Amino acid sequence: LPDNFFKDLARVDGLIIISSANEIQRYSRDFYDYSPILLEKLGHCCADFVVKPLAIDAVIAVAGICYKYSIPLTLRGAGTGNYGQCVPLQGGVVMLMGALNKIRKFDSFTGQVIVECGCLMGDLDNYLSTKGRQLRILPSTWRTASIGGFIAGGSGGIGSIRWGFLRDPGHLLALEVVTTEKDPKILQLNSRSSESLNHAYGTNGIITALTLATSSLIQWQQVVIDCENWSDAVHLLQSCANASVNLFLGSLLEKEIIEAIPNWSGVSHGKHRLLLLVAPDGVTTIERLSSSIGARFKDLGGEGRGNGLRELTWNHTTLHMRSIDSNWTYLQMLLPQNEVEAMNIIRKKWGKSILWHLEAVRQQGAQRIAALPLVRWQGEESLGELINDCKKVGAVIFNPHVISVEDGGLGIIDSDQVNTKKIFDPKGILNPGKLRGWT
Ligand code: FAD
Repeated sequence: LPDNFFKDLARVDGLIIISSANEIQRYSRDFYDYSPILLEKLGHCCADFVVKPLAIDAVIAVAGICYKYSIPLTLRGAGTGNYGQCVPLQGGVVMLMGALNKIRKFDSFTGQVIVECGCLMGDLDNYLSTKGRQLRILPSTWRTASIGGFIAGGSGGIGSIRWGFLRDPGHLLALEVVTTEKDPKILQLNSRSSESLNHAYGTNGIITALTLATSSLIQWQQVVIDCENWSDAVHLLQSCANASVNLFLGSLLEKEIIEAIPNWSGVSHGKHRLLLLVAPDGVTTIERLSSSIGARFKDLGGEGRGNGLRELTWNHTTLHMRSIDSNWTYLQMLLPQNEVEAMNIIRKKWGKSILWHLEAVRQQGAQRIAALPLVRWQGEESLGELINDCKKVGAVIFNPHVISVEDGGLGIIDSDQVNTKKIFDPKGILNPGKLRGWT
């Protein structure tokens, strides 16, 4: 990197410059090692420099300096992404956004909150609970992930059973964004213009603050139901999701998963396990639905301070299984509406090298089943074949073994995202290599 670049950076007020090689390496990684494919592709990627702005003025200054010298600039929240979203493919600067963490404003009438990008979701959710509100959608990393990183790199999670996915209209209401140009601007975007930065991996603007919708606080009750038969369990998950009951989470894990991770999931009874977060007034209905198929119902009561059911679901299931045996990797998909039949076809060919982990979600207003199955790693070719087989039975794959925004989604280039980049990041220095539509 040019000498003058360092000199310019060193002059910025309120900017911590991190130059220890170990720290730089640590801040150049995320949780991409879930994917053996990404591990091989990204293992060598490393920033030249890491900076941590303590205020927005310093963000603006870094944006201007990186623009001036055409240095790649990759933003990092808490670094919990799974697809190398914040890995600097072309080196350059990684900018840590964690110090911008203020909750600026809460509107008690609408429940809307304005928060800076680096605020941890756990802190934000705790704050909201003091106002009788809560976040609508959280990743299972909700205690450690930043809100800016979730909007830029996440997609859904706990709450998706009721509130759908992050890109559905109504969640993200406005953004404050810094551009990377000769004289970087700080812009206030409305909900329409914010859409193209939602799930764009920080490739088309630096998010400094967000306005989000929230929902009323509910004291979620933790319910665990063990089922003998897989298709009964899937149908019970669907009946719970379709019932007139307020649910925040509906996950289903195959019995082999429960048996493998007793330290997290509790004692196995050799059965498939449903994990639900249910509003207090819905618990008896869920009990009635489970008794109709003779399932074993357990009400664990309210959520405590420790690891509850949340940390067993979404990508935490994968985390726990990999901690037992790192030969497990995973896939992400929306199952077709004949879920059980589709899973049976896959089981017939692939046996127990795929273990089903399902999440009930709302997709475009309809109740659907998403899956994050555990997959035994048998090489890239085998994974490709499995992906094709899942597509053949009608599943929509969101591939977690790829690095671009588009390939991890529906594979389609979003011209709004690319056009926004043309305006906010004309030199293309933000997180280069991640937006296929740009390259
Ligand atoms: P980072 O990983 O730091 O960044 C994510 C992306 O956002 C990167 O591209 C980065 O460049 C960009 N970015 C960060 N800050 C900004 C900013 N200020 N402006 C613009 N771009 C920015 N994800 C889900 O969606 N749902 C889940 O349930 C879920 N469960 C998970 C469970 C485990 C065990 C793990 C390891 C991951 C899981 N994830 C999940 C992925 C990840 O935890 C979430 O997406 C998380 O919200 C990312 O937040 P972060 O602060 O760590 O972001």
